[in-house]
Amino acid sequence: MTREHGKVGAIAKGVRRPESKLGPSLELYGHVDLLLAKGRGELDVVAQVQRVPGYRIEGDVERMAHAALIAELAERVCEDRHPLDGVYELVVLSLAELSRETEPRRASAWFLMSALDLLGYAPQLMNCAMCERPLAAAPAPFSAEAGGFLCEKCALPSMPAVPLATIKVLRLMAAGDLATYRRLKLDPALMGSLEGVLQTQLEHHLDRRLKSLTFLNSMTNSLSPSGERVRVRGKEE
Ligand SMILES: [Zn+2]
Repeated sequence: MTREHGKVGAIAKGVRRPESKLGPSLELYGHVDLLLAKGRGELDVVAQVQRVPGYRIEGDVERMAHAALIAELAERVCEDRHPLDGVYELVVLSLAELSRETEPRRASAWFLMSALDLLGYAPQLMNCAMCERPLAAAPAPFSAEAGGFLCEKCALPSMPAVPLATIKVLRLMAAGDLATYRRLKLDPALMGSLEGVLQTQLEHHLDRRLKSLTFLNSMTNSLSPSGERVRVRGKEE
């Protein structure tokens, strides 16, 4: 993923050899300054590489799994050699946030909201997604098909309500208030509920499931049974 050229395929020759000058700087999800040469085929060739000082993700299994989600989504929405406004910046910011955040799930949820916003899929959080009436300060069901939360009149009785606390955190995220978000106390149930809304919304707009998301959720559920993601509404295998 490059700033000026979008997604670019490149090979680093001899990178596994111990004397390779490229190897030490090229790690998964690393932030690098890169000089590419035109290759003979589709792929460019890495001529020089230097790590940009700052975050490191490699070596931490849980962070790597969240980084895989960031990378997979960026990969999915970008075309080869066509930069998409804001995607590079969002990826760099999200990976940096992921490395500094003590709870990787928080950084990942922030990334999902930002990505939804960037792609034009941000959920409606203030008004009913069907009738546009302002939402009451109360739990409300979420519908990815409708594109947001539903008021009492539009909701079906069978739809589970999302807690008001979750809706409030989502509003704060949508406002882009990262400083306040970092200070919020998010218990596992609230975290799971946030992830439920954001993931349901994202997957509704993607034609294929994200492999990294399936893996992340199975990992989260096996790590902390109490932190299980709350399904809001939508497809589940
Ligand atoms: Zn309504």
